[in-house]
This record gives sequence, C-alpha cells and structure tokens, in this order.
Amino acid sequence: MRLSKMLLVTLREDPAEAEIKSHKLLLRAGYIRRIGSGIYAYLPLMWRVLQKISQIVREEMDATGALECLLPQIQPAQLWQESGRWDTYTKAEGIMFSFVDRQKRELALGPTHEEVITTVAKEMVKSYRQLPLHLYQIQTKFRDEIRPRFGLMRGREFIMKDGYSFHTSEESLKQTYKDMDRAYRNIFTRCGLNFTAVEADSGAIGGSGSQEFMVLAEAGEDDVLYTQDGKYAANVEKATSLPAQVVVSPFTSYEKKETPNTETITKLSKNLQCSPTNIVKNVLYQVVYDSGTIVLVLISIRADQDVNEVKLQNELVKLADNYSATTILSLTVPDEKAQQKWAAKPLPLGYIAPDLGDDYITSSGDIEGHFLRFIDNTAFELTNFVTGANENGYHVVGANWGEQFTAPTTVVDIRKALVGDRAVHDHEQLLQTARGIEVGHIFQLGNKYSQAMNATYTGEDGKEKPLEMGCYGIGVSRLAQSAVEQCHDDNGIIWPVAIAPYQVIIVVPNITNAEQMEVAERLYQQLNEAGIETLLDDRDGRAGAKFKDADLIGIPYRIVTGRSLKEKKVEVVTRADNCSENVAIEDIVTIMSARVKNQS
Ligand code: ATP
Ligand code: MG
Repeated sequence: MRLSKMLLVTLREDPAEAEIKSHKLLLRAGYIRRIGSGIYAYLPLMWRVLQKISQIVREEMDATGALECLLPQIQPAQLWQESGRWDTYTKAEGIMFSFVDRQKRELALGPTHEEVITTVAKEMVKSYRQLPLHLYQIQTKFRDEIRPRFGLMRGREFIMKDGYSFHTSEESLKQTYKDMDRAYRNIFTRCGLNFTAVEADSGAIGGSGSQEFMVLAEAGEDDVLYTQDGKYAANVEKATSLPAQVVVSPFTSYEKKETPNTETITKLSKNLQCSPTNIVKNVLYQVVYDSGTIVLVLISIRADQDVNEVKLQNELVKLADNYSATTILSLTVPDEKAQQKWAAKPLPLGYIAPDLGDDYITSSGDIEGHFLRFIDNTAFELTNFVTGANENGYHVVGANWGEQFTAPTTVVDIRKALVGDRAVHDHEQLLQTARGIEVGHIFQLGNKYSQAMNATYTGEDGKEKPLEMGCYGIGVSRLAQSAVEQCHDDNGIIWPVAIAPYQVIIVVPNITNAEQMEVAERLYQQLNEAGIETLLDDRDGRAGAKFKDADLIGIPYRIVTGRSLKEKKVEVVTRADNCSENVAIEDIVTIMSARVKNQS
C-alpha cells in the first residue's frame, strides 16, 4: 500500500483523552478513532492487526477441532429469562444493552453467548454420539461497561473470540479445557506477548477450573499475586495464602474498656497497645437477592485482614435458595442512606461486636429480620481477642469464642490474600504482586446453563442428561492494544512481526529524486510479490518526518532508498532495536523473506 493513498493521519502530541501509553500511541499513529464513550473506529492499519490476530486465533482453534460459526448479536430476552440472567444483566449489573422492537418484544445486544449457544445445542444435540462438540466465533460484543476506559482495553463495543464446548462427562470437558490451555498459550506466544496464566475465580458455579491469561503491565486493571518460584499465580479475587502469624494476645482476662475515638483499627491497636492480629473486626454488608429480599450480613474477620468481596459474593450466591432467589443483584457496604431503610436504632459503627442484636433491624416485607453471620477462619482461630462492645467508645478485651461470644456457625474463607503473605504450597515463598491485563479466560461451566435451559442429550445408557459445558474467551481487540502496551518505546509502537499491519515500510527520503523512487518502486513490487506485506512512503515531505511516522506506526523493518544507493545498497533499520545496516539491493527480497518468516 502507498502511504500517499492511505488515510494516515498521525499526531505529534499526546491526545488529552488518553491516559495510558498504548491508548495514546494507537490514537497518535492513526490506528483508532474515538466515536463515543468506549466506542472506537478501527482504521485500516488497526483492522489489519485485528485480522492477523483473528487468523492466529482461528488457526490454533481449528487445530483443536473446534468449529467456527457466527451467532446472532441480537438476542431475544426470553433466552436470558430461561437462564435466569435477564434481570442481572439488564438491571443489577446493567451491563447488557437492551431494547424493545416495534412488536414490543424485548431484545438485547449480545455481551456473551452462553444462552444462544445452549439453545442451539438444546435443539440440535440429541445423542452422546454427537459429542464432544466445540463451536467458536470471532465477533463484536456489546457491554455497557460502567467505566469504559483505556481505549480498546475496556470498550463498550469490542471484538471477542468466544467458544463453547459440550460434553458427556467431566473428563471430556477437562480434556478440552486442557486443549484450550495449550491453544491459548500458542496463540499468545505467536502474537508475541509476554503472558502469565493465573488461577481465576469461577464465581458461585465453583467447579475446578477457571484460568485467566494475563499480560503483565502497570496499566492492567487486575491484581495478580504470584510466587517467585513460578509455582503459583492467581487473580487476587481467587488467591489464597497463609495470613500473617498471630502475635500472642496481651490480654488474659475478659474486660470491657473505654476506648474513645478508636473507630479505626490503627487507633484501636495503639490505644490498647495490642497487635491488629488480636482484634476481631465486624464488618457489615447489605445484599439484595433477585427475589427482592434484602439481607444484612455481619462478618467477623481478623482486623489486619480485609474481606474479599468476590469470595463473599460466591458464599452469598450459594445461599440464594434460602431467600427464594437464584442470584444476588448487589452487594454493598450500607451507607447512611441505606441504613435509614432498616436500622431500628443508630448502629455502634466502629464498635460493633459479633453478637450485634437482630433488634437493630426493623424487619419489613423485603428486609430479612436476622443478620446473616459469617466468621472468617482468621477470626475463628483467635483467643483472648479484642472486639467491639456494641456501644460507642467501648471495646472488650480477652474475649473467647464459646465463652463471651458464640461463634457464628458459618465459618468461611473470605479473606483477601495480601502481598507478603506466605504461600500455601511453600511457606518460605512470599506472595508478590503485579498488575495484569486479562486477555483470555477459560472456564469449566459444568451444567449451570444446560440445566437452567433444559439442554439435555441421551446418553449411552439411554438416559437423558444435562450437557456438560465449557467456555473460552479471548479479547481480540484488547489483545491488540496489550501488545502495544507491552511493546513500545519513546518513538512509538513496536509491533511483534506476526501481528504487525505491514512487515516492511519503504521510505523514500526525496520523491523528486528519480533513482530513489525507481529503486523504491521496484523493491515495493518485488517484496509484495514475495508475500511480504510492504508499505511505500511515497508522500511528499521531509525525510525526518517520514522516519518519525515509520517509527510511530511501528512497522518492524524500514528500508530507506537514500545515500547508500551509490553503492547499490539500501539501508535497513530494525524497529525493535533501531539497528541499521546497508544491504545490497539484489539481496533484499531474500533477506527480508528470511527475517519475516523467522519471526512470525
Ligand atoms: P473483565 O473482568 O476485564 O471485565 P470479563 O471477565 O468480563 O473481563 P469475559 O466475559 O471472560 O471477560 O470475556 C472474555 C474476554 O473478553 C476477556 O478475557 C477480555 O480479554 C475481553 N473483554 C471483556 N470485556 C471487555 C471490554 N469491555 N473491552 C475489551 N475487551 C473485553
Ligand atoms: Mg467484564
């Protein structure tokens, strides 16, 4: 392609709308254009990158026996009502764009396709003989993200590869899951990414398997905890660890103490001259179930620890049945306004004890009259502990479970693993932290959807059974930007060769020089004929500005038809290391072919 004929508009300055490097570079280099919040136009250079990534994804998916298809983006509400996700997706999380058609039917723009694919399987898969089956697609997804940001990293319209597999058994599902792990590693490696696979939260579905693939980068929105020995890496949402060791409690007898102005743990441990590991803090949450029931949750946890809200949410979803619900709509720390709805009297905030009375709740239609009480392992283990006295300005010390307090019956692990914690697999290893960009996620779903939507098959034994399912996603557009986040320098993007929009750019320093133009044109033709995707910068302009653009758009190799022509040579500059060499004109095609093939 000739740059003079391309819609290439580069910017010298960083656009104000962009915060992170990759977003700034993609805008400056003319790859994308913002059309609205979280909505971008992929310009020709970007589209080529996206096509390359899609092709790599396709090749690796096809190699596993998965079949490509294309599912509708418009999805009838009814499917989501069957799976029980309509309200959560349109109201609670509100992440799904929904609308009503002229026949007054409710529809939505697909944020994901479990419902559609399960419907297809339900209607078409009848027998175990048709299984296992794996269908995937590469398509635009729509999500009304609360905080669209960082360009293609979190868009409201973005490209995803999503695949769904169906099985007769857990072993068969595990086999495909393993194949996907391998395929994903191949895909990210071929795309030139430096990535880490981490254990991920599987939500309340539980099940043994969910893994995310992270590109480690400061700009990432996820927190990853890992150990130096490479044996453990997990999303903080899922991570487990051993908490810091408890310091022996300085209190030996039970006593109520006046502790004014100690509503924070720091102030309290200072006032009482004890370690935060001696204190049980009691944290209040408010959960709204999809049946409309509002439940107040009181969690007792060691004071140096924090609640992992993802783990808490999973525990709460498991209890949905008790409230005639299937899932939860929201989980929040109730602020003053929320408390007004149910608090019978002012709460002793900062001084709450594990036995805070149910008489603090005015029970009404929607509001459950009893606290749901959870205790985290860390608090359960404590002896002679400090905790609130349910009275402003007072705490108790030297308390014990089974004596002054009855321990809540539900003991759970809902603490957040922290950097510096000891690893479970090896107590010598301490958890370290890094930021990650989630580019892919593989997930063993089990039969959550097939059961809800009644998608069954007839087994070898003649019995009807729900299909076992797995799902596997890659954020294709997010992946493209992650590559830039990982590979750039002060001058611009450095594309990995395999996903670069073009592999070579020929820059003509002076287009009025006939010899420069003639050699450039010849090489341009020869390289393209040899299958090397080549750009020709034939624009009228200063050589320096053209070199800057070539660096900015990040083409792996730049050929310059300049001074070296005297010796029948051209200059070849490698973008990644800025190395320059003069190569004989007649050798260019052979040399470039070898390099490009080597690296893609
Ligand atoms: P996140 O936690 O980042 O919101 P997710 O868990 O919602 O991601 P999935 O539903 O598993 O993501 O989607 C599969 C893949 O699609 C993700 O791994 C990610 O790479 C990509 N993805 C998800 N949401 C977006 C988005 N808003 N913009 C761009 N890519 C996205
Ligand atoms: Mg999301």
